Amino acid sequence: MEQIPDKTEIIVIGAGLMGCSIAYQLSREKKEVLVFEKRNIASGASGRNGGQVIQLEGRDKNPETIKKRLEVVKENNKILKHLEKELNFQLEYQRIGSLDIALNEEEWKDIKETVKIQKQAGDEEIELLSKKEVLKMCPTLTEKVFGARYRKSDGTINPFFLTHGFAFNAMKNRARIFTHSPVKRIVNEHGMVKGVELETGKMIRSEVVINATNAWSHFLCPEIDILPLRQVAVVTEPVADLPVYPMEAFIDGDAIFTTTQTKSGNLVAGGFKTQARKRNLHYDESVEPIEIAGSSAIFKRVFKGLKDICIIRSWSGTMAVTGDCLACIGKYPETENLYIAAGFSNGMAYGPVVGKLIAELVVYGKTSIPVDIFSPHRFYKKQIDWPEFYNYTVLAEFFARV
Ligand SMILES: Cc1cc2nc3c(=O)[nH]c(=O)nc-3n(C[C@H](O)[C@H](O)[C@H](O)COP(=O)(O)OP(=O)(O)OC[C@H]3O[C@@H](n4cnc5c(N)ncnc54)[C@H](O)[C@@H]3O)c2cc1C
Repeated sequence: MEQIPDKTEIIVIGAGLMGCSIAYQLSREKKEVLVFEKRNIASGASGRNGGQVIQLEGRDKNPETIKKRLEVVKENNKILKHLEKELNFQLEYQRIGSLDIALNEEEWKDIKETVKIQKQAGDEEIELLSKKEVLKMCPTLTEKVFGARYRKSDGTINPFFLTHGFAFNAMKNRARIFTHSPVKRIVNEHGMVKGVELETGKMIRSEVVINATNAWSHFLCPEIDILPLRQVAVVTEPVADLPVYPMEAFIDGDAIFTTTQTKSGNLVAGGFKTQARKRNLHYDESVEPIEIAGSSAIFKRVFKGLKDICIIRSWSGTMAVTGDCLACIGKYPETENLYIAAGFSNGMAYGPVVGKLIAELVVYGKTSIPVDIFSPHRFYKKQIDWPEFYNYTVLAEFFARV
Protein backbone atom coordinates (compact mmCIF):
# COMPACT_ATOMS: atom_id res chain seq x y z
CA MET A 1 0.00 0.00 0.00
CA GLU A 2 1.21 3.47 -0.88
CA GLN A 3 2.65 5.42 2.04
CA ILE A 4 0.63 8.48 3.12
CA PRO A 5 2.93 11.53 3.12
CA ASP A 6 3.31 13.77 6.18
CA LYS A 7 2.54 16.96 4.28
CA THR A 8 1.08 18.29 1.04
CA GLU A 9 -0.25 21.46 -0.56
CA ILE A 10 -3.94 20.52 -0.68
CA ILE A 11 -6.14 17.91 1.02
CA VAL A 12 -9.58 17.06 -0.33
CA ILE A 13 -11.82 15.06 2.02
CA GLY A 14 -14.31 12.76 0.26
CA ALA A 15 -14.02 10.98 -3.10
CA GLY A 16 -17.56 11.48 -4.34
CA LEU A 17 -18.31 13.49 -7.47
CA MET A 18 -17.43 16.82 -5.78
CA GLY A 19 -14.16 15.66 -4.22
CA CYS A 20 -12.96 13.99 -7.43
CA SER A 21 -13.95 16.94 -9.62
CA ILE A 22 -12.15 19.34 -7.27
CA ALA A 23 -9.06 17.10 -7.16
CA TYR A 24 -9.02 16.93 -10.97
CA GLN A 25 -9.21 20.70 -11.45
CA LEU A 26 -6.52 21.36 -8.82
CA SER A 27 -4.28 18.68 -10.31
CA ARG A 28 -4.52 20.51 -13.66
CA GLU A 29 -3.14 23.55 -11.86
CA LYS A 30 -0.13 21.39 -10.92
CA LYS A 31 -1.03 21.44 -7.23
CA GLU A 32 0.05 18.62 -4.96
CA VAL A 33 -3.31 17.05 -4.03
CA LEU A 34 -4.15 14.23 -1.62
CA VAL A 35 -7.74 12.93 -1.40
CA PHE A 36 -8.87 10.99 1.68
CA GLU A 37 -11.99 8.84 1.36
CA LYS A 38 -13.38 6.78 4.21
CA ARG A 39 -14.76 4.02 1.95
CA ASN A 40 -14.27 3.87 -1.82
CA ILE A 41 -14.51 6.23 -4.79
CA ALA A 42 -18.24 6.94 -5.45
CA SER A 43 -19.34 4.87 -2.45
CA GLY A 44 -21.56 7.70 -1.13
CA ALA A 45 -24.47 9.40 -2.93
CA SER A 46 -22.43 9.76 -6.14
CA GLY A 47 -22.57 5.99 -6.70
CA ARG A 48 -26.20 5.65 -5.67
CA ASN A 49 -28.09 8.24 -7.67
CA GLY A 50 -30.33 8.35 -10.70
CA GLY A 51 -27.91 10.18 -12.98
CA GLN A 52 -30.41 12.89 -13.86
CA VAL A 53 -28.79 16.15 -14.94
CA ILE A 54 -31.65 18.54 -14.19
CA GLN A 55 -30.41 22.10 -14.08
CA LEU A 56 -33.26 23.76 -12.21
CA GLU A 57 -34.41 20.76 -10.20
CA GLY A 58 -37.50 21.45 -8.10
CA ARG A 59 -39.93 24.31 -8.57
CA ASP A 60 -37.92 27.39 -7.72
CA LYS A 61 -40.16 30.48 -7.73
CA ASN A 62 -37.59 32.98 -6.46
CA PRO A 63 -36.44 35.16 -9.40
CA GLU A 64 -33.07 35.92 -7.76
CA THR A 65 -32.09 32.31 -7.08
CA ILE A 66 -33.41 31.22 -10.49
CA LYS A 67 -31.08 33.71 -12.24
CA LYS A 68 -28.05 32.89 -10.10
CA ARG A 69 -28.55 29.12 -10.15
CA LEU A 70 -28.88 29.25 -13.93
CA GLU A 71 -25.52 31.00 -14.32
CA VAL A 72 -23.79 28.18 -12.46
CA VAL A 73 -25.67 25.19 -13.89
CA LYS A 74 -25.38 26.51 -17.45
CA GLU A 75 -21.61 26.59 -16.99
CA ASN A 76 -21.84 23.01 -15.72
CA ASN A 77 -23.72 22.03 -18.89
CA LYS A 78 -21.08 23.77 -21.01
CA ILE A 79 -18.35 21.71 -19.33
CA LEU A 80 -20.37 18.49 -19.71
CA LYS A 81 -20.65 18.97 -23.45
CA HIS A 82 -16.92 18.40 -23.95
CA LEU A 83 -16.10 16.38 -20.85
CA GLU A 84 -15.95 12.89 -22.40
CA LYS A 85 -13.33 14.17 -24.80
CA GLU A 86 -11.43 16.13 -22.16
CA LEU A 87 -11.30 13.20 -19.74
CA ASN A 88 -11.02 10.60 -22.52
CA PHE A 89 -13.57 8.62 -20.54
CA GLN A 90 -17.00 7.22 -21.51
CA LEU A 91 -19.62 9.03 -19.42
CA GLU A 92 -22.82 7.88 -21.19
CA TYR A 93 -23.93 11.50 -21.22
CA GLN A 94 -27.20 11.96 -23.09
CA ARG A 95 -28.57 15.47 -23.54
CA ILE A 96 -32.16 14.36 -24.09
CA GLY A 97 -34.15 16.92 -22.08
CA SER A 98 -36.12 16.50 -18.87
CA LEU A 99 -39.75 16.68 -17.80
CA ASP A 100 -41.55 17.66 -14.63
CA ILE A 101 -44.96 16.06 -15.09
CA ALA A 102 -48.29 16.95 -13.46
CA LEU A 103 -50.43 14.00 -12.41
CA ASN A 104 -53.28 16.09 -11.03
CA GLU A 105 -54.91 19.48 -11.48
CA GLU A 106 -53.16 21.06 -8.49
CA GLU A 107 -49.72 19.96 -9.73
CA TRP A 108 -50.50 21.31 -13.19
CA LYS A 109 -51.39 24.71 -11.70
CA ASP A 110 -48.11 24.72 -9.75
CA ILE A 111 -46.02 23.78 -12.81
CA LYS A 112 -47.70 26.48 -14.93
CA GLU A 113 -46.98 29.09 -12.26
CA THR A 114 -43.35 27.89 -11.90
CA VAL A 115 -42.73 28.08 -15.65
CA LYS A 116 -44.26 31.56 -15.82
CA ILE A 117 -42.02 32.85 -13.01
CA GLN A 118 -38.91 31.17 -14.41
CA LYS A 119 -39.54 32.65 -17.86
CA GLN A 120 -40.04 36.11 -16.31
CA ALA A 121 -36.74 35.64 -14.47
CA GLY A 122 -34.99 35.33 -17.83
CA ASP A 123 -35.00 31.58 -18.32
CA GLU A 124 -35.30 31.36 -22.10
CA GLU A 125 -35.21 27.61 -22.38
CA ILE A 126 -37.96 26.44 -20.07
CA GLU A 127 -41.13 25.25 -21.88
CA LEU A 128 -44.64 24.28 -20.91
CA LEU A 129 -46.05 21.22 -22.71
CA SER A 130 -49.78 20.45 -22.94
CA LYS A 131 -51.06 16.93 -22.30
CA LYS A 132 -51.16 16.29 -26.06
CA GLU A 133 -47.60 17.58 -26.55
CA VAL A 134 -46.12 15.60 -23.67
CA LEU A 135 -47.88 12.39 -24.73
CA LYS A 136 -46.59 12.87 -28.27
CA MET A 137 -43.07 13.23 -26.92
CA CYS A 138 -43.40 10.34 -24.49
CA PRO A 139 -46.25 8.07 -25.66
CA THR A 140 -45.66 5.55 -22.88
CA LEU A 141 -46.69 8.09 -20.21
CA THR A 142 -49.96 7.51 -18.38
CA GLU A 143 -53.07 9.11 -19.94
CA LYS A 144 -53.61 10.68 -16.50
CA VAL A 145 -50.88 13.25 -17.17
CA PHE A 146 -52.11 16.88 -17.29
CA GLY A 147 -49.04 18.46 -18.87
CA ALA A 148 -45.36 19.05 -18.13
CA ARG A 149 -42.40 21.38 -17.76
CA TYR A 150 -39.72 20.62 -20.34
CA ARG A 151 -36.05 21.69 -20.59
CA LYS A 152 -34.23 20.47 -23.64
CA SER A 153 -30.62 20.82 -22.45
CA ASP A 154 -31.10 18.57 -19.38
CA GLY A 155 -30.20 14.91 -19.62
CA THR A 156 -28.70 11.85 -18.02
CA ILE A 157 -25.21 10.69 -17.21
CA ASN A 158 -23.64 7.59 -15.70
CA PRO A 159 -22.76 8.89 -12.20
CA PHE A 160 -20.12 6.18 -11.52
CA PHE A 161 -18.33 6.91 -14.78
CA LEU A 162 -18.47 10.66 -14.14
CA THR A 163 -16.93 10.33 -10.66
CA HIS A 164 -14.36 7.73 -11.75
CA GLY A 165 -13.54 9.78 -14.87
CA PHE A 166 -12.54 12.71 -12.67
CA ALA A 167 -10.69 10.45 -10.20
CA PHE A 168 -8.76 8.66 -12.95
CA ASN A 169 -7.70 11.92 -14.60
CA ALA A 170 -6.78 13.53 -11.28
CA MET A 171 -4.51 10.55 -10.57
CA LYS A 172 -3.06 10.80 -14.07
CA ASN A 173 -2.10 14.37 -13.12
CA ARG A 174 -0.37 13.01 -9.98
CA ALA A 175 -3.13 13.59 -7.42
CA ARG A 176 -3.25 10.70 -4.96
CA ILE A 177 -6.50 9.19 -3.69
CA PHE A 178 -6.33 7.22 -0.44
CA THR A 179 -9.44 5.07 0.01
CA HIS A 180 -10.47 3.45 3.33
CA SER A 181 -8.81 6.44 5.01
CA PRO A 182 -11.39 8.29 7.12
CA VAL A 183 -10.52 11.77 8.34
CA LYS A 184 -11.17 12.20 12.06
CA ARG A 185 -10.83 15.97 12.25
CA ILE A 186 -9.68 19.07 10.45
CA VAL A 187 -6.82 20.69 12.35
CA ASN A 188 -6.66 24.44 12.64
CA GLU A 189 -4.59 26.75 14.80
CA HIS A 190 -5.36 30.41 15.45
CA GLY A 191 -7.94 30.56 12.65
CA MET A 192 -5.66 28.94 10.08
CA VAL A 193 -6.08 25.42 8.70
CA LYS A 194 -3.06 23.21 9.33
CA GLY A 195 -4.09 19.83 7.91
CA VAL A 196 -6.10 16.80 8.97
CA GLU A 197 -5.87 13.96 11.43
CA LEU A 198 -6.90 10.53 10.14
CA GLU A 199 -8.86 8.02 12.23
CA THR A 200 -5.55 6.13 12.60
CA GLY A 201 -4.12 9.14 14.46
CA LYS A 202 -1.79 10.11 11.63
CA MET A 203 -1.48 13.87 11.06
CA ILE A 204 -0.98 15.27 7.56
CA ARG A 205 -0.05 18.91 7.34
CA SER A 206 -1.52 20.88 4.44
CA GLU A 207 -1.74 24.48 3.29
CA VAL A 208 -5.35 24.04 2.15
CA VAL A 209 -8.16 21.65 3.18
CA ILE A 210 -11.44 21.15 1.29
CA ASN A 211 -14.39 19.42 2.91
CA ALA A 212 -16.32 17.58 0.15
CA THR A 213 -18.10 15.03 2.32
CA ASN A 214 -21.66 16.28 1.64
CA ALA A 215 -24.02 14.37 4.00
CA TRP A 216 -21.14 13.85 6.44
CA SER A 217 -19.74 17.39 6.23
CA HIS A 218 -21.10 18.61 9.58
CA PHE A 219 -19.11 15.95 11.45
CA LEU A 220 -15.96 17.76 10.30
CA CYS A 221 -17.38 21.31 10.08
CA PRO A 222 -20.11 21.39 12.73
CA GLU A 223 -20.72 25.14 12.52
CA ILE A 224 -22.74 24.61 9.33
CA ASP A 225 -25.81 22.47 9.87
CA ILE A 226 -26.08 20.43 6.68
CA LEU A 227 -28.76 17.76 6.94
CA PRO A 228 -28.30 14.16 5.72
CA LEU A 229 -31.22 12.97 3.58
CA ARG A 230 -31.71 9.34 2.67
CA GLN A 231 -33.28 8.44 -0.67
CA VAL A 232 -34.24 5.08 -2.20
CA ALA A 233 -34.04 3.90 -5.81
CA VAL A 234 -34.92 0.76 -7.78
CA VAL A 235 -33.66 -0.34 -11.18
CA THR A 236 -35.48 -2.44 -13.78
CA GLU A 237 -34.48 -4.91 -16.44
CA PRO A 238 -33.51 -3.13 -19.70
CA VAL A 239 -36.44 -1.76 -21.71
CA ALA A 240 -35.86 -1.57 -25.44
CA ASP A 241 -36.67 1.52 -27.48
CA LEU A 242 -38.66 3.35 -24.84
CA PRO A 243 -38.40 7.12 -25.13
CA VAL A 244 -37.32 7.95 -21.58
CA TYR A 245 -36.68 11.36 -20.16
CA PRO A 246 -35.34 12.16 -16.75
CA MET A 247 -38.55 13.03 -14.95
CA GLU A 248 -39.64 14.70 -11.75
CA ALA A 249 -43.20 14.42 -10.41
CA PHE A 250 -45.23 14.16 -7.25
CA ILE A 251 -47.29 11.07 -6.43
CA ASP A 252 -49.61 11.40 -3.43
CA GLY A 253 -47.41 14.23 -2.15
CA ASP A 254 -44.10 12.33 -2.47
CA ALA A 255 -41.45 13.81 -4.79
CA ILE A 256 -40.44 11.00 -7.14
CA PHE A 257 -38.01 10.63 -10.04
CA THR A 258 -37.66 8.29 -12.99
CA THR A 259 -34.76 8.15 -15.40
CA THR A 260 -32.13 5.94 -16.93
CA GLN A 261 -28.65 5.92 -15.46
CA THR A 262 -27.09 4.04 -18.33
CA LYS A 263 -27.31 3.71 -22.10
CA SER A 264 -28.36 0.06 -21.73
CA GLY A 265 -31.98 1.08 -21.08
CA ASN A 266 -32.48 -0.04 -17.49
CA LEU A 267 -34.93 2.35 -15.87
CA VAL A 268 -34.34 3.86 -12.45
CA ALA A 269 -37.02 5.31 -10.20
CA GLY A 270 -37.22 6.35 -6.60
CA GLY A 271 -38.70 8.47 -3.88
CA PHE A 272 -42.20 7.04 -3.47
CA LYS A 273 -42.78 5.84 0.11
CA THR A 274 -39.21 6.50 1.28
CA GLN A 275 -39.78 6.34 5.02
CA ALA A 276 -39.37 9.31 7.37
CA ARG A 277 -36.62 8.76 9.94
CA LYS A 278 -34.60 10.52 12.62
CA ARG A 279 -31.43 12.28 11.50
CA ASN A 280 -28.90 9.60 12.53
CA LEU A 281 -30.91 6.89 10.70
CA HIS A 282 -30.46 8.68 7.39
CA TYR A 283 -27.05 6.99 7.07
CA ASP A 284 -28.62 3.52 7.03
CA GLU A 285 -28.12 2.12 3.51
CA SER A 286 -30.51 -0.82 3.82
CA VAL A 287 -33.91 -0.67 2.06
CA GLU A 288 -37.27 -1.54 3.62
CA PRO A 289 -39.77 -3.74 1.67
CA ILE A 290 -42.37 -0.93 1.73
CA GLU A 291 -39.81 1.35 0.03
CA ILE A 292 -39.04 -1.18 -2.72
CA ALA A 293 -42.78 -1.66 -3.30
CA GLY A 294 -43.25 2.13 -3.35
CA SER A 295 -40.52 2.91 -5.86
CA SER A 296 -41.59 -0.07 -8.02
CA ALA A 297 -45.16 1.25 -8.08
CA ILE A 298 -43.90 4.40 -9.83
CA PHE A 299 -43.66 2.48 -13.12
CA LYS A 300 -47.34 1.55 -12.89
CA ARG A 301 -48.44 5.04 -11.86
CA VAL A 302 -46.38 7.01 -14.38
CA PHE A 303 -46.21 4.78 -17.48
CA LYS A 304 -48.55 2.65 -19.59
CA GLY A 305 -47.63 -1.00 -20.11
CA LEU A 306 -44.87 -1.21 -17.51
CA LYS A 307 -46.81 -2.66 -14.62
CA ASP A 308 -45.17 -6.11 -14.97
CA ILE A 309 -41.63 -4.86 -15.43
CA CYS A 310 -38.98 -6.73 -13.38
CA ILE A 311 -37.09 -4.86 -10.68
CA ILE A 312 -33.56 -6.24 -10.57
CA ARG A 313 -32.00 -4.22 -7.76
CA SER A 314 -32.70 -1.58 -5.13
CA TRP A 315 -30.51 0.60 -2.96
CA SER A 316 -30.51 3.66 -0.78
CA GLY A 317 -28.01 6.46 -0.34
CA THR A 318 -27.52 9.64 1.62
CA MET A 319 -27.47 13.05 0.02
CA ALA A 320 -27.65 16.42 1.80
CA VAL A 321 -29.74 19.56 2.12
CA THR A 322 -29.13 23.00 3.57
CA GLY A 323 -31.54 25.47 5.15
CA ASP A 324 -32.46 26.94 1.73
CA CYS A 325 -31.89 23.86 -0.47
CA LEU A 326 -28.84 25.45 -2.13
CA ALA A 327 -25.41 23.95 -1.54
CA CYS A 328 -22.56 25.62 0.38
CA ILE A 329 -19.68 26.30 -2.00
CA GLY A 330 -16.72 28.43 -0.98
CA LYS A 331 -14.42 29.59 1.79
CA TYR A 332 -15.26 28.38 5.26
CA PRO A 333 -15.82 31.35 7.59
CA GLU A 334 -13.27 32.18 10.31
CA THR A 335 -10.71 29.56 9.20
CA GLU A 336 -8.13 30.61 6.61
CA ASN A 337 -7.57 28.15 3.76
CA LEU A 338 -10.47 25.88 4.67
CA TYR A 339 -13.12 25.41 1.95
CA ILE A 340 -16.41 23.54 1.79
CA ALA A 341 -18.44 22.11 -1.11
CA ALA A 342 -21.40 20.32 0.48
CA GLY A 343 -25.17 20.29 0.78
CA PHE A 344 -25.92 18.75 -2.62
CA SER A 345 -29.19 16.98 -3.40
CA ASN A 346 -28.91 17.33 -7.18
CA GLY A 347 -25.16 17.13 -7.56
CA MET A 348 -25.06 15.97 -11.20
CA ALA A 349 -26.01 19.49 -12.30
CA TYR A 350 -23.10 20.88 -10.23
CA GLY A 351 -20.22 18.39 -9.99
CA PRO A 352 -18.05 19.50 -12.93
CA VAL A 353 -18.51 23.24 -12.33
CA VAL A 354 -17.93 22.94 -8.56
CA GLY A 355 -14.47 21.49 -9.25
CA LYS A 356 -13.70 24.47 -11.44
CA LEU A 357 -15.09 27.05 -8.97
CA ILE A 358 -13.28 25.67 -5.93
CA ALA A 359 -10.01 25.43 -7.90
CA GLU A 360 -10.42 29.07 -8.99
CA LEU A 361 -11.01 30.14 -5.39
CA VAL A 362 -8.02 28.21 -4.08
CA VAL A 363 -5.61 29.23 -6.83
CA TYR A 364 -6.79 32.74 -7.79
CA GLY A 365 -8.88 33.79 -4.76
CA LYS A 366 -12.01 34.46 -6.86
CA THR A 367 -14.48 32.69 -9.12
CA SER A 368 -15.21 33.43 -12.77
CA ILE A 369 -18.97 33.36 -12.09
CA PRO A 370 -20.72 34.71 -8.98
CA VAL A 371 -21.41 32.16 -6.26
CA ASP A 372 -22.75 34.45 -3.54
CA ILE A 373 -26.07 32.56 -3.28
CA PHE A 374 -24.02 29.48 -2.31
CA SER A 375 -21.95 31.31 0.30
CA PRO A 376 -21.19 29.16 3.39
CA HIS A 377 -21.70 32.30 5.51
CA ARG A 378 -25.48 31.88 5.08
CA PHE A 379 -25.66 29.16 7.68
CA TYR A 380 -22.49 29.64 9.69
CA LYS A 381 -23.26 29.10 13.39
CA LYS A 382 -27.01 29.21 12.64
CA GLN A 383 -29.11 26.56 14.22
CA ILE A 384 -31.92 25.18 12.08
CA ASP A 385 -34.98 23.72 13.71
CA TRP A 386 -35.23 20.66 11.42
CA PRO A 387 -38.18 18.28 11.80
CA GLU A 388 -37.28 15.35 14.08
CA PHE A 389 -38.57 12.65 11.71
CA TYR A 390 -38.21 13.49 8.05
CA ASN A 391 -37.93 12.36 4.47
CA TYR A 392 -38.00 14.36 1.23
CA THR A 393 -41.77 14.95 1.51
CA VAL A 394 -41.61 16.17 5.12
CA LEU A 395 -38.76 18.53 4.18
CA ALA A 396 -40.75 19.91 1.21
CA GLU A 397 -43.54 20.81 3.65
CA PHE A 398 -40.96 22.25 6.08
CA PHE A 399 -39.47 24.50 3.37
CA ALA A 400 -42.94 25.61 2.24
CA ARG A 401 -43.59 26.81 5.81
CA VAL A 402 -40.29 28.66 6.48
C1 LIG B 1 -31.12 7.52 -4.37
C2 LIG B 1 -30.51 8.82 -4.82
C3 LIG B 1 -30.85 9.34 -6.07
C4 LIG B 1 -30.29 10.53 -6.50
N1 LIG B 1 -30.55 10.95 -7.78
C5 LIG B 1 -29.94 12.04 -8.27
C6 LIG B 1 -30.09 12.40 -9.63
O1 LIG B 1 -30.73 11.71 -10.41
N2 LIG B 1 -29.48 13.54 -10.05
C7 LIG B 1 -28.72 14.32 -9.20
O2 LIG B 1 -28.22 15.37 -9.62
N3 LIG B 1 -28.54 13.97 -7.92
C8 LIG B 1 -29.11 12.85 -7.44
N4 LIG B 1 -28.87 12.48 -6.15
C9 LIG B 1 -28.01 13.33 -5.31
C10 LIG B 1 -26.53 13.16 -5.70
O3 LIG B 1 -26.20 11.80 -5.66
C11 LIG B 1 -25.63 13.99 -4.78
O4 LIG B 1 -26.05 15.34 -4.83
C12 LIG B 1 -24.16 13.95 -5.17
O5 LIG B 1 -23.75 12.63 -5.43
C13 LIG B 1 -23.29 14.54 -4.07
O6 LIG B 1 -21.95 14.30 -4.37
P1 LIG B 1 -20.85 14.53 -3.26
O7 LIG B 1 -19.53 14.21 -3.85
O8 LIG B 1 -21.04 15.87 -2.67
O9 LIG B 1 -21.26 13.49 -2.09
P2 LIG B 1 -20.93 11.93 -1.94
O10 LIG B 1 -20.94 11.24 -3.23
O11 LIG B 1 -21.80 11.40 -0.86
O12 LIG B 1 -19.42 11.94 -1.46
C14 LIG B 1 -19.02 12.24 -0.14
C15 LIG B 1 -17.90 11.28 0.20
O13 LIG B 1 -17.29 11.65 1.42
C16 LIG B 1 -16.89 10.47 2.09
N5 LIG B 1 -16.66 10.79 3.51
C17 LIG B 1 -17.58 11.13 4.44
N6 LIG B 1 -16.99 11.38 5.63
C18 LIG B 1 -15.65 11.20 5.44
C19 LIG B 1 -14.52 11.32 6.29
N7 LIG B 1 -14.63 11.69 7.59
N8 LIG B 1 -13.30 11.06 5.78
C20 LIG B 1 -13.15 10.68 4.49
N9 LIG B 1 -14.20 10.56 3.62
C21 LIG B 1 -15.43 10.82 4.10
C22 LIG B 1 -18.06 9.52 1.85
O14 LIG B 1 -17.69 8.18 2.06
C23 LIG B 1 -18.41 9.84 0.40
O15 LIG B 1 -17.75 8.97 -0.50
C24 LIG B 1 -29.41 11.27 -5.67
C25 LIG B 1 -29.06 10.76 -4.42
C26 LIG B 1 -29.60 9.55 -3.98
C27 LIG B 1 -29.18 9.01 -2.65
